[in-house]
Amino acid sequence: MLSNDILNIKGKILILVCCAPCCCGVVDFIAKNKIDVTLFFYNPNIYPEEEYIKRKNEVIRIAKLYNIPFIDTDYTPEDYAQSTIGLGYCEERGKRCDACFLLRLTKTGIYARDNNFDYFTSTLAVSRWKSLEQVSNAGKKAEKISHVPYLDINWRKNGLQETAHNIIKEQEIYEQDYCGCIYSFKKRKNNLG
Ligand code: SF4
Repeated sequence: MLSNDILNIKGKILILVCCAPCCCGVVDFIAKNKIDVTLFFYNPNIYPEEEYIKRKNEVIRIAKLYNIPFIDTDYTPEDYAQSTIGLGYCEERGKRCDACFLLRLTKTGIYARDNNFDYFTSTLAVSRWKSLEQVSNAGKKAEKISHVPYLDINWRKNGLQETAHNIIKEQEIYEQDYCGCIYSFKKRKNNLG
């Protein structure tokens, strides 16, 4: 579904947000359309902790700017380590990312179920570096586990990327140069030489 389709949805939506650059266009759209959405920050994949805090604080800044509820979770890198055992060798968009998406979306779905949300979704595939299909598949699996409907939304259309670009510039939002985990961090470092 496209972002405009969410306007026909009735009920409370929980949205997993990964970082401010990916979520700001979505949050702007949600606020302008008065959609009942709560932001959920569960990203144990992010390494190191200083980076986690930096990304989280930027998302909190966006949530406050638009007056959208924000739910924080603890930093639990052991969750990510456990879920990706033996997958460190995988390339980005491979099995390690499948496990990473599933972990984060399952937690979101279960939180939605336990806290009376009607749906859940995410900003994981906002970036064109991510596979829409991979995130969508993980969302469907998380839906089966949590028994809460997953809204499979393509946020890349309807001008949201242009909006995000402008907000990032205006608000001077921190833009990271690696996906998040220790493997992507090391790869970025190696590429920089
Ligand atoms: S590259 Fe990104 S999506 Fe893939 S495992 Fe690392 S943090 Fe998760």
